[in-house]
Amino acid sequence: MSDIQAGCFSALLRPRRRKATTTKPALMAASEHPVRGPPPYSPAAPREGIYRPEVMETIEATLATLDVDLHQLSLSIHDHPELNFQERFAHDALTAFMAARGFAVTPHYLGLETAWRAEFVHMPGAKGARVVGVNAEMDALPGVGHACGHNLIAVAGVGVALALAAALRAHNTPGTVVLLGTPAEEAGGGKQLLLERGAYEEMNVCVMCHPMGGATQAVGFAPTLALQVINVEFFGHAAHAAFAPWEGVNALDAAFLAYGNVSALRQQLKPDQRVHGIVQGRDWTPNVIPDYAKMAWIVRASVWDDVVVLRDRVIKCLDAAAMATGCTHSITFGDRYRELHQNRVLAEDLAATAREQYGVPTSITGDVSSASTDFVTLPSIHPTYNIPTDGGAQNHTPGFTRASRTPEAHTATMLMARMLALTGFRVLDDGAFFEQVGCGAIPATHLHNDIFHAGEAVPRPRESGAGVYVVLGGLDVSWVHAARELYYR
Ligand SMILES: [Zn+2]
Ligand SMILES: [Zn+2]
Repeated sequence: MSDIQAGCFSALLRPRRRKATTTKPALMAASEHPVRGPPPYSPAAPREGIYRPEVMETIEATLATLDVDLHQLSLSIHDHPELNFQERFAHDALTAFMAARGFAVTPHYLGLETAWRAEFVHMPGAKGARVVGVNAEMDALPGVGHACGHNLIAVAGVGVALALAAALRAHNTPGTVVLLGTPAEEAGGGKQLLLERGAYEEMNVCVMCHPMGGATQAVGFAPTLALQVINVEFFGHAAHAAFAPWEGVNALDAAFLAYGNVSALRQQLKPDQRVHGIVQGRDWTPNVIPDYAKMAWIVRASVWDDVVVLRDRVIKCLDAAAMATGCTHSITFGDRYRELHQNRVLAEDLAATAREQYGVPTSITGDVSSASTDFVTLPSIHPTYNIPTDGGAQNHTPGFTRASRTPEAHTATMLMARMLALTGFRVLDDGAFFEQVGCGAIPATHLHNDIFHAGEAVPRPRESGAGVYVVLGGLDVSWVHAARELYYR
């Protein structure tokens, strides 16, 4: 990726039209399931605005053939919820599935027991051939199982990879598909580790998707926050709480003072920043001065540089609490996730498919969201899509666990896989498009001077409860950062 080039953002998304085929489109296997949520594919749907409709027919036919197998695979992973770095059932099931369908599989990839890699190459050695990566998450949450729907993400990844392989073969296009089994998204930062160990260096682009709760079908692209986990332990001195409290050094007091300090800090935070934490302890009883307390904090901001600044302010709150109570303390850093940059060019291409092929509404926004993920920052997309849930249940709840095994959720996931596969194919097939993709991902560090150099409209501020805030439809998260600096000055 390089600095912003003039013209990078103009007329990007006009699809390179090829002669439309009159072949009767393949029907989705959606008809095998009763569908209440997302609309089934209709042969009458307009196909004019998407890239190479004949390739989409191959993708649809492939996924229709795989539909039942992918649903069973999804349910089997849902039936075996596994926490971060323990995804052994999922690892074995998914690698066996890919190996049986002609992919070259590397289990236990890059020293991580539950990471894996599956590769398909068409026309090896072809000059200029590109590599599309796909992520398949697998981990569940303590107590609530697959309450984030990672069983769906896993089979979406499998479906995208297999559909891409079929399309490369059918349309005689050189390229490589790499499907990565990525452990430990909920905690542990599996993709961060894979990134550090070089797993993403071979890819030109990487794609994945994530379900959310929603009554009607929709696809969304939004940035996520960078984060740092901070753990602090306070060490005091136990004493009888009534007989000789003056002999005690109260570690629980240190924790409460730290909580109060951070709470005071919160009112000075910017709208895209979050600090939240909990107190943990052991063997506490009201008639003993606690000699130990532990806290876990998460510090978030829209860009990593802001996390570093905010992290230092939180550490001062913790230091002050230790000083005030006479405790000693120990601070260690846990997981750190970078912010997610959605690639605008890839997002717009997928949005065209969603709109023209399936009539699915799509939103692309640079507005900050309030969650984070460990997805990497090479040109990539990580769209969310809706699955129907009872009572509007959202991720990380038992209602979402139930929703993530329904036929409706599976159908919505397969619809998402179709869209991702077509955009992935275009990266492999369309050189001009791929060049534009490179322009669409903008490193945050380049933005302060360049924000208006790319021919975009000046962002317009809107009022929110927290003061002036900026909405940037269709721009990278890093643009939010630059615009925020502008308006806060
Ligand atoms: Zn989650
Ligand atoms: Zn998740």
